[in-house]
Amino acid sequence: MEMTILGCSGSLAGPGNAASGYLLRMSDGEHIVMDIGPGVLSRLQFHDRPGDVHVLFSHMHPDHCLDFPSLAVWQRYHPTDASGRVHTMLGPSIAPVHLGRASADALDEVDDFSDIFDMSGWQAPGQEPVEFADGTYPEHRIGSTRLYAATAVHPTESYLIRVEDADGSSLVYSGDTAATPNLAALASGADVLLCEATWGERDNGDNPPQMHLSGEEAGQAAAEAGVGRLILTHIPPWGDREGALRGARRFFDGPVDLAVPDMVVVPGAPA
Ligand SMILES: [Zn+2]
Ligand SMILES: [Zn+2]
Repeated sequence: MEMTILGCSGSLAGPGNAASGYLLRMSDGEHIVMDIGPGVLSRLQFHDRPGDVHVLFSHMHPDHCLDFPSLAVWQRYHPTDASGRVHTMLGPSIAPVHLGRASADALDEVDDFSDIFDMSGWQAPGQEPVEFADGTYPEHRIGSTRLYAATAVHPTESYLIRVEDADGSSLVYSGDTAATPNLAALASGADVLLCEATWGERDNGDNPPQMHLSGEEAGQAAAEAGVGRLILTHIPPWGDREGALRGARRFFDGPVDLAVPDMVVVPGAPA
């Protein structure tokens, strides 16, 4: 698997950086976009053919999903790159209605995407943390890629996502979450943890609760999970990037990097 960072700006797009969006090229040839916030579709056009991508959503906050209706326009109407098949979309149970409303022509109408996407909701264990190695996570499939989700702590229905390529490489994405034992449990032994660090070095206590992570908390989760590499993402334009890095390195002694646009990451390869 190879991941290209399309956008990694937290909470909204920043100067020269789209909001959340990550392109995964899997070893079986399938391409998956993980979250598609504002600006991500523009960046995707530099890197891939938007007409042939599947979509995963961590949650339905605007900075993670608002370019989806425009992706639907591309897949339906592009003169040479319209979608030639129905792709998979996995996300929160509210995604089809939420996105359908954003794409509809009239108030209270809901656009039906079933011509281009087979949309289904994440199946995840309950609130109690379950070790990934237990093998009890409900499994989703896109081609030969296996996908798993755990419940995040965030104000809307939100998920942590684990991607397992058929080549044996693995990536875990935090989406948006406050600290939860589910993160280290799902990320256990993963090659890469792509983890939000919205609050910078540490949570100063003035931030809204049940919302996001600090660099320290991302580092703690990475250390507990024993991941191969930690990449910090979702830092807002006003955020403390260097502080997030410092905080994470205090707890995790493996490779730690800040996500930047167009960065290419190969899980399982040396950092
Ligand atoms: Zn966000
Ligand atoms: Zn969010």
